[in-house]
Amino acid sequence: MARIVQKFGGTSVGDMERIRSVAARVEREVAAGNEVAVVLSAMAGTTDQLVAWTREASAAADPREYDLVVSTGEQVTIGLLAIVLQDMGIAARSWTSWQLPIRTDGAHTKARIENIDTAALEADLGQGRVGILPGFQGISPDGRIATLGRGGSDTSAVALAAALNADRCDIFTDVDGVYTCDPRIVAKARKLDRITYEEMLESASQGARVLQTRAVEMGMKHHVRIQVRSSFEDAPGTLVVDEDEIVEQEIISGIAYSRDEAKITVARVADKPGVAAAIFGPLADAAINVDMIVQNVSEDGDETDITFTVPEGDRQRAIDAIERSCDAIGYGRLDHDANVVKVSVIGVGMRSHAGVAQRMFRTLAEKGINIQVISTSEIKVSVLIAEEYTELALRALHSAYGLDAE
Ligand code: ADP
Ligand code: ASP
Ligand code: MG
Repeated sequence: MARIVQKFGGTSVGDMERIRSVAARVEREVAAGNEVAVVLSAMAGTTDQLVAWTREASAAADPREYDLVVSTGEQVTIGLLAIVLQDMGIAARSWTSWQLPIRTDGAHTKARIENIDTAALEADLGQGRVGILPGFQGISPDGRIATLGRGGSDTSAVALAAALNADRCDIFTDVDGVYTCDPRIVAKARKLDRITYEEMLESASQGARVLQTRAVEMGMKHHVRIQVRSSFEDAPGTLVVDEDEIVEQEIISGIAYSRDEAKITVARVADKPGVAAAIFGPLADAAINVDMIVQNVSEDGDETDITFTVPEGDRQRAIDAIERSCDAIGYGRLDHDANVVKVSVIGVGMRSHAGVAQRMFRTLAEKGINIQVISTSEIKVSVLIAEEYTELALRALHSAYGLDAE
């Protein structure tokens, strides 16, 4: 007997027929004698609609009320799956996040799970009853519903698997595993049998939305056996594993991209100590995450430009924060551009192989694509380019690193 957590994403519970096929998958695990806890997303498109309604209600919605509204999609799917399973003669019940409870911190709209009280759920699982939980939410210290950020059901599932000490955490989605690049854009992308936690973490944080970044972080910390697999087919998916479980490590495991970027340039600032602090201080105070940064070499030694990127959703707040500090910074002009995409090549093999970045720059140059900003870490190289070149850049890089499927 094993204890299993199964998570199904929005497309996998998109309508009643799909909820019935989810029920069939649950039934198989129950029939095999396993204890099964299920985490569900809202039906595809539901959360988008709920978010749009809160925006329509107010441009500055109270985050606690926003969370209340956008968390409701999951309540519908968990109840429906419980009803379908019961109809099939399988003991099952839904649990809302306050019934366990799932406790989070107070960062409404992007909360972190702090702990899950699994006592009641475990007692129920022990009786052979399937437990069905809503993804993407928990209860904040003030006793209100808090959501975990978009894509947060992955994190709910991995956190639950850790809390239950589950043998497996299967993430069922609309692709059959983790690919070398988003298969919807690069048709020649290859499915990986295994990927390291580290590479998956970097890919997720650079935009590969197949797993939420925090889900990978949590899996890595608690050694959760995560498998990403298709909810429509039975083939094995991709296992996320430690580095020593991979026999033949490629230099590059994949390429990720993020359109959720905006570029801001603070032009003609003095080239002297304290200017960067004057710019980035107000952004930090506004809790805006700055990602890539470049400071141009000044031509005359007096003035320079500083360019950086922020998430597109924070662009306006970033501009407001800088304009408010205009006197302290002392700049000539403030420009911004949302028409950009960040493309990253990722691989632990980069640590021991030179020339990875150079191949990226050469490939983009051959396609006539201008690089606006560059940033690197130990296992990734990222560039910012104009958004219209996304597909061209991804496909060219995928070939250049020898990742194309035969
Ligand atoms: P779910 O609703 O099941 O959580 P998501 O839409 O959040 O599904 O994530 C799955 C999607 O992630 C796929 O449809 C695919 O387009 C996208 N994706 C991006 N990068 C990758 C990648 N490297 N491998 C697989 N899928 C990827
Ligand atoms: N329903 C939420 C979203 O669309 C959470 C999830 O699906 O993971 O972001
Ligand atoms: Mg998702």
